[in-house]
Amino acid sequence: MNGFASNAPSAGVLELVRPDLRGFGGYKSARTEALRGDVWLNANESAWANPADADAVCRRYPEPQPAALRAALAELYGCTPEQLLIGRGSDEAIDLLVRVLCVPGRDAVVISTPVFGMYAVSARLQDAPLIDVPLRDTAQGFLPDLAALADAALAGAAKLVFLCSPTNPTGHACALDEIAGLAGRLAGRALLVVDEAYVEFSDVPSATALLARCPNLVVLRTLSKAHALAAARIGVAIAAPELIAVLRACQAPYPIPAPCAELALAGLAPAALAQTRQRVERIREERSRMHEALEGLPGVRRVYPSQGNYLLVRFDDADRAFATLLSTGVVVRDQRAAPQLGDALRISIGNPEQNERVLSALAVREAAA
Ligand code: PMP
Repeated sequence: MNGFASNAPSAGVLELVRPDLRGFGGYKSARTEALRGDVWLNANESAWANPADADAVCRRYPEPQPAALRAALAELYGCTPEQLLIGRGSDEAIDLLVRVLCVPGRDAVVISTPVFGMYAVSARLQDAPLIDVPLRDTAQGFLPDLAALADAALAGAAKLVFLCSPTNPTGHACALDEIAGLAGRLAGRALLVVDEAYVEFSDVPSATALLARCPNLVVLRTLSKAHALAAARIGVAIAAPELIAVLRACQAPYPIPAPCAELALAGLAPAALAQTRQRVERIREERSRMHEALEGLPGVRRVYPSQGNYLLVRFDDADRAFATLLSTGVVVRDQRAAPQLGDALRISIGNPEQNERVLSALAVREAAA
């Protein structure tokens, strides 16, 4: 046995997958065999638990896709377990998609900057050409030019289009009919990946509602933001089951550490979920309050409308605003190196006390100027 399993190739969305990976079954681990028994001696695991592992959670390799967590996530996101791949944050899903779809040096990735940096990093690592169709800075905020995105993807023979919605760091969320329209224009030519890391904070529903009619759509979700589990590294890709199967075949054998899976499952239990939803509501209220308060501060040029848990703010002197905040111990995200954002900072919405720290630091700065 060579350690590789094989999948029969099939049509449809799989035609967008790298031809050399369509029939690839990946590594055949000890956990992928459908074997039964009560003495497991097939994976060279330790005979005893580590003394620090009181509940013996970590002695054996974890389930590659923990079934209970997969079912809970599928219920949360309104899809079937077969449509969902659990990975190490949505970062891993982004990387897997680029590796599985793009032939190095040939198949392009389309993004709209300024945007979350990992799409470009994954493209670079795969040697996939990057096509940028910049966001347009308008009275309504930074908006993607969806027609131009589709044109550029088709002209550049791209395999992947990343649409971040709500967009990090600019805050706009696309309506579902716009997303469906873009997916339709890309049908048969490219996958449309809608990164919904922040969708819980937005007024727009998830694009998972479109999966039944858009086979070339992939939706990314994460427990890192609204669910407050960034360190557990649980993110998912939701897509056609045949695409999910290929992504799984190309993923590491045991990507989800058992303690993380346990914690995530507990974090999705009804009481925890109810509290998460209340907290999302509080963040949305604080976002409105902060938006208004920041707009009222001298030295603030513009606060962009945001559907995420952050605000993008332009300053007359962003250098000084950043330094002032830092001098009071408040660390925000410097956006000045990003295209079109030379005077901007991104401020995450914290709890009311943290938000007050931001406002008072910036107000004092202006009083002293
Ligand atoms: N997508 C977006 C838009 C993000 O802002 C982030 C994290 N900042 C991620 C994906 C990655 O999140 P994670 O890997 O923690 O799921």
